Amino acid sequence: MRNLSLYILSLFILLPIAVIAQDRAYPIEGDGIFSFLRRWNRVGDAYVQEFIELNFDRLNAQGGLELGTVYLIPPLHPGDEYPASIEMLPQGTDPAIFGSAAGDMTPRSERLKNACFYIISGHGGPDPGAIARVGNRILHEDEYAYDIALRLARELMLDGATVHVIIQDPQDGIRDGMYLNNSSNETCMGEPIPRNQLDRLKQRVEKVNELYERDKEQFDYCRAIEIHVDSRNKGKRIDVFFYHSPDKQSQLLATTTRDLFRVKYDTHQPGRGFSGHVEERGLYILRHLEPPSILVEVGNIQNAFDRQRILLSNNRQALANWMAQAFLMLFTR
Ligand SMILES: [Zn+2]
Repeated sequence: MRNLSLYILSLFILLPIAVIAQDRAYPIEGDGIFSFLRRWNRVGDAYVQEFIELNFDRLNAQGGLELGTVYLIPPLHPGDEYPASIEMLPQGTDPAIFGSAAGDMTPRSERLKNACFYIISGHGGPDPGAIARVGNRILHEDEYAYDIALRLARELMLDGATVHVIIQDPQDGIRDGMYLNNSSNETCMGEPIPRNQLDRLKQRVEKVNELYERDKEQFDYCRAIEIHVDSRNKGKRIDVFFYHSPDKQSQLLATTTRDLFRVKYDTHQPGRGFSGHVEERGLYILRHLEPPSILVEVGNIQNAFDRQRILLSNNRQALANWMAQAFLMLFTR
C-alpha cells in the first residue's frame, strides 16, 4: 500500500516535468513560427494559434521568433505524432514529374480518393515506337503518348486519385509545344527499359502487378491504362481505338470511354461522327496486367489529319480530360 501511494505520488510529480521538458525548444537560424512548428510535426493553423497564445510574451516586435529564446511547443492534437510516423499508405507518383505544370496541384475534389490508377505510356527508353516524318522533323510516338499520359495522370490526381506513372522521364514534364523533342531517357519507375520487346512489356506489367498487390488492399478501385499512337498507312484516318481483355471490367472501361468520346465529338464537332471502336485483343499487356486494363490508340501518327490530335497540346489535353472523365464516371456511378 505504501509503495503504491509512493508510486502514484511520483507519477504526479514526474509526469508534468517530463511533459514540460519535452515541450520547449530553441528556434534555429531563419526559423519562423511555421518552420519551427513543422519541425515538431505541429502542422496547421490551430497549432500556430496555440503557439502564439503560449508564447505571446516571447515573440519579438514583429511577432517572430528570437534566436536564443526558448519557446513552448503546443501539445500534440489527438492523432498527430512526433516524430511523424513513416507514411505506410501506398503513395502515388510525385506530381513533380509534371514539370512546371506541377505548380498548381490544388485538388478540385476528392471524388477519386479511393481510386488508384496505373498510367503507362507506350514504348519509351530505347524504343521510340512509331516514327513519322513531317517536313524535316521526326516525330516519335513515345513522346506524344507520354505527354498524354502525364496529362491524364494530373487530371486524376486533381480529383484526389492515387496515380502511378509507370513510364517516367525525369526531364520531360507536361509540354505544350507541337513538336516534342525526342529522348531515350525514359525509365520504368527508375529502372532502365530493356531493348527486347518482350522484356520491355514484362517489365512494366510486373511493375504494375507488384504495386497492385499492395494497392488492392487499400483502394476500392484500381485500373490500368496504356496509351499508344498508332502507325498505319499515310492515307488512313482512324478514330480512337479502345482495346480490352476478356475481363468484364476491362470491357466496361473500354465501352464507357468510347461512348464518352462519342458524346464529346458530337458536342465539339457536330456532324463529324465518331467511329472509334472497342475490341477485345489478346495483347501481352492486356493478358498479363492484374488490374482491369485497357489499351488506347489515339490516332494514326502517319496521317496528317489524325496527327492534329496529337500535335496540338489542347487536343492532347482533351484526350486526357475525356479519359479521366470516363474513369470518374465509372468510379462514382
Ligand atoms: Zn505503340
